[in-house]
Amino acid sequence: MSRGWANYSVGDFTLEASWDIEPGQVTALFGQSGAGKSTTLRIIAGLVQPMAGYIEIGSRVVFDGNGGVFVPAHRRRTGYLTQQFHLFPHLRVGANIAYGLADGRSAAGQARVQLLLRTLQLEGLEDRYPWELSGGQQQRVALARAMAPAPAMLLLDEPFNSLDAELRRVLRSELRTMVVQSGIPTMLVTHDREEALAMADWVQVIDEGRVISEGEPLDVLGQPGRGRVARLVGVENQFDLVIESHNPKDGTMICMGEGIRLEVPLDQEGASPEFGTAPRVPIESDAARINGDSLRRVTVGIRASDIILSSRDLQGSSARNRLQGVVSGVEAHPPGYTVSLDCGRTLQCHITGAAMAEMSIKPGQELWAVFKASSCFLIQD
Ligand code: ADP
Ligand code: MG
Repeated sequence: MSRGWANYSVGDFTLEASWDIEPGQVTALFGQSGAGKSTTLRIIAGLVQPMAGYIEIGSRVVFDGNGGVFVPAHRRRTGYLTQQFHLFPHLRVGANIAYGLADGRSAAGQARVQLLLRTLQLEGLEDRYPWELSGGQQQRVALARAMAPAPAMLLLDEPFNSLDAELRRVLRSELRTMVVQSGIPTMLVTHDREEALAMADWVQVIDEGRVISEGEPLDVLGQPGRGRVARLVGVENQFDLVIESHNPKDGTMICMGEGIRLEVPLDQEGASPEFGTAPRVPIESDAARINGDSLRRVTVGIRASDIILSSRDLQGSSARNRLQGVVSGVEAHPPGYTVSLDCGRTLQCHITGAAMAEMSIKPGQELWAVFKASSCFLIQD
């Protein structure tokens, strides 16, 4: 396990980090460039000394600002991996992996190297030099080298950035399996939402040196309720609308804007005591409020992956939102596609390759976008 906190500042940048990672769990730091993610990793690794803080790695205190403890980087037993693989060019694959092992040449050390070669599908490559490997193979070797001395913590700084999308997906799942099996607490820096969803047990959204949101990956990255988080996470569909009417009985409300009308979950105001019972406020009076002072503006978000595309109107379905539109664009979004549907406003919808082929979707085609009220969420500023 690893836990701790640290305060650090350089120039006009201030960082306040804190974390608590169980054995075999992955915490993802998610945020824009310059947010302070790499600095957090460097502090944990011991490459940067914070002004104040307390850091435990594998139940050993490696930094205590009050107690005068500072364990140097090479004695913290962290495995540190970045997008620059930093393999030793003069050493063959086997020697690169064995580098951090105290007993690299012993039978036990060699057995460990062989195990890592097998686990990371590098068998047969141990006598090659780094330049004789592809990018994906080099990153596997770098990962094997980081794992070899059984580190007490893994620090991964955007390790797959320089690899193509397909290879990234494979390596992510291999790495996730290794982390879980080996029980190593892991901190992963990423600005890729899919990567955080695929690898993390916990996500922290970092903005300007501060954690502005944290929780389970789907809670944080699925329907981010705060404007700043939504912008950082990237919600594909966001519409500025006004509330037309409340329907407390169903726990929904109707929101309108130019070219679009959506049924969405009630906001805080509408979800007050009437929720689940007959509306105390007649719907008509809500309609009147649109012209009055209490006109309420809301931003509604919908994830592209929460929208179903259908070639006909799904009448009789339970989905509260069914919008007819015309396909205005199709773009690859590995492993599937993003379809832009013009329904008065443009909706971005994610579909799989199989659905794409089955429906033979093309620009100009008429389709229906179908989604539940609960797939819509309100984004507050
Ligand atoms: P991230 O990894 O999230 O992209 P970093 O942790 O690398 O961000 O950097 C965080 C901030 O710290 C940036 O704004 C960067 O400019 C600043 N910074 C890092 N090191 C220094 C330094 N030595 N001098 C001045 N600013 C620095
Ligand atoms: Mg960085």
